[in-house]
Amino acid sequence: MPTPNPKPAFFLDRDGVLIEEIGYISQAEDVVLLPDVARALRMIDEAGFRCCVITNQAGVARGKFHLEAIHEVNLKIFDLLAQDDVMLRDFFACPHHPQGTVAPWNSQCAFRKPNPGLLDMAASELNISLAESFMIGDKISDLQAGAVVGCRTALVLTGHGPDHERTVRENAESLNLVTIATSFIAAVEACLELATTASASLQDRPDIASPRTFTCSGVCFDGRSLVPRSTSDKRGL
Ligand SMILES: [Zn+2]
Repeated sequence: MPTPNPKPAFFLDRDGVLIEEIGYISQAEDVVLLPDVARALRMIDEAGFRCCVITNQAGVARGKFHLEAIHEVNLKIFDLLAQDDVMLRDFFACPHHPQGTVAPWNSQCAFRKPNPGLLDMAASELNISLAESFMIGDKISDLQAGAVVGCRTALVLTGHGPDHERTVRENAESLNLVTIATSFIAAVEACLELATTASASLQDRPDIASPRTFTCSGVCFDGRSLVPRSTSDKRGL
């Protein structure tokens, strides 16, 4: 159940930010964490922020992989980070693309970045205060999704970052831009320097946790099962 006091969070894009961008990643064995990601996530945790992943996965709409593959990759990320004693359990994904070929995913979706639907869903699910939160991504669409709900944002120059650097720089003000950083950990450090409102206490969290993948369609993968459960009764999607 949500607590009365919402917490600040870091919303993180996945491909090209936390893991190497290889284009439509769908297999656990292809997951490679980028340098210092575990260390940066620990800094976020110690600063009292929640953390979750916000990812467009249009490969589903384009017929490159099935919905379950999103969760398989997320499980692998969870496991790799757990080896470094870092817990990243909450993933929010939109499989839609308007030019997709696979129904029902070949349509516009209010959850696909630059739309902020996934951030709103995460904020509601995890009791997050959007105005105190940050969004880090390698595309301008990540930053637009964050800025429109009042988050401050950072661009990393990993993944597709270099292709977006100029446009992001030109729109820094409207994007609530904190920094353009060469690495994820540098982006996190720059954000945390501004985070005067962050709680000094560690975030409350369960001792035992397993990864969860929420999707815009109202299905959710929980734990190690690749059988989705419907959350539509709960969320009314
Ligand atoms: Zn969607």
